[in-house]
Order: sequence, then structure tokens, then C-alpha cells
Amino acid sequence: MHSDLSAHREAKRDAGKVWLVGAGPGDAELLTVKAVRAIEQADIIFYDQLVSGDIRALFPAGVPALYVGKAKNHHSIAQEDLNQLLVDQAKMGLQVCRIKGGDPFVFGRGGEELLVLRQAGVEAQVIPGITAASGCSASADVPLTHRGLSQGCTFVTAHADKELNVNWRALAQLDHTLVFYMGVTRASTIATELKRGGMSASTPVAIIEKGSRKDQRVLTTTLAQLAQTVAEQAVQSPALIIVGEVVSLRAQLQPEHWLSMMNLDDQQQRLSA
Ligand code: SAH
Repeated sequence: MHSDLSAHREAKRDAGKVWLVGAGPGDAELLTVKAVRAIEQADIIFYDQLVSGDIRALFPAGVPALYVGKAKNHHSIAQEDLNQLLVDQAKMGLQVCRIKGGDPFVFGRGGEELLVLRQAGVEAQVIPGITAASGCSASADVPLTHRGLSQGCTFVTAHADKELNVNWRALAQLDHTLVFYMGVTRASTIATELKRGGMSASTPVAIIEKGSRKDQRVLTTTLAQLAQTVAEQAVQSPALIIVGEVVSLRAQLQPEHWLSMMNLDDQQQRLSA
């Protein structure tokens, strides 16, 4: 009994571990301290497409870093093979850093990976990351909720392996902010279905491309013009679509808006003096 326990302790000490790390939307300064520590302590790193170059630059030299993301319409490695790889590496005693864009538990298949690791008896821990909705909201000056404008926010994926299973009517009736992940190629469906569900065609919409990154682009439009804007502006992935009245706050939140107001005040004061 006693020796069993010490053998167990011994095995545990030698056992590896997998960190499922959220990398946030791309700006390396938006990584959590925990994420940075997991990167620094890793024996091996598996990263995917949304892990930005700025974040990859933090990977320690000499530590193998393997790309396991999507390569144009097909996975570079099947999810099942990746799961097995994570289990095998941890069982070999390695500290594995599995890092992915945003938050692992928001459209990130983090739940599936964690399930496989736990089933295999591998120690695993999720390190949350700033999800695209929060990151893009902050860097585009579009609050996700706002008193008097929106009392809630729903994250929706516009992508599905097979049929999209979205209750559009229910979404359209919520009367609060909707955030669409993976929606660029579905812009037309999103607009058509929400309008059919009863949402006004004049509802403001923001499209945030490469949110939080140096080359971020923010476009504002309406539900009526959404598909046209995406096509005309050739919106690239990753991009997030925010639908709702909160988008109208963006104009007011620009420093230039207030500067021009102040200038106007100055001018008026000068005129009336
Ligand atoms: N786990 C991620 C989401 C993965 S799904 C998270 O929590 O953010 C991939 C989708 O996320 C993209 O198609 C896009 O809609 C969104 N996304 C991720 N990073 C983004 C970024 N920097 N700017 C805009 N959209 C982003």
C-alpha cells in the first residue's frame, strides 16, 4: 500500500502536463501573465492560425513549436490526431503548451481537447484568453453592452461543419448585441435571416478585421448593407461582426468627435465675445 502510494507520487512528479492556453486576439500585450508563463515553461508548443506573429515571437528559442492550424480549407492535422499527440507528449513527461487564438472555450474546441486529456488521465489546465468579442470591442470602441442600449450580448458562430443550427428568429428578437464569429463568408445569410426574423434593416453593424493588431480595420454599416460592405471592402479573416445599437456609440467615442466639438465651442465663444 505504502509503496503503491510512493510509486503513484513518483509517477505524478514525472508526468507531463498540457496547458490549453488562450492567446487573445493578437496583440501580444493582451496575453495573461499565466499564458506567458506557460509559454516560457513549455517543452513543446502547438499553435494554430490565429496565434499572431507577435505572440509567436515570444516562443522560447530552441523549444519546438509546431503549427497545427488550418491550411486553406483543410486541417493541417486532424483534430483526433492532435488530441492523441497532446496525450502522448504529456505521457512522455513533457510540459505541453497548446496555444490557440482568443479563449480556448469560445469556439475554440478547448472543451473537446480537455475531455480527451482528462479521459486519458493527463493533467491539463485551461488558461483563459481574451476572446475576440472583448478584444475587438475594446480596440474598435464598440461597447458590448451599454445602459439604455443593450442589456445583453450573445456570441454566435456563423460557421458549421454541416447545417447551421441557429434560431435566427429568437436571435433577432433578443433586442441586444449579437457578435458573430466566423461570419465573413456568411454575411449575406446573417443579414437575410436576421431581417426575416424581424430585425430592422437599419440596425448598425460593425465589422472588425484583425482586431487588436497593427493592421486592424473597422468598418461600420447597417444590416441592409452588410453583405455589400463585406464584398466591396474585401474583408479578410479573421473578422468579427457586431450587430446592434451599441455600434452607434463608436462615432461618439472617437477622440476626434470631442475635439471637433471643443473647437466648435471655442469658435462659438469667440463669435459671441
Ligand atoms: N477562440 C477564439 C475564436 C475562434 S473562431 C476566440 O475566443 O476569439 C475564429 C473566429 O474568431 C474568426 O473567424 C473571427 O470571427 C474571430 N476572431 C478571432 N480573432 C480575431 C481578431 N483578432 N479580429 C477579428 N476577429 C477575430
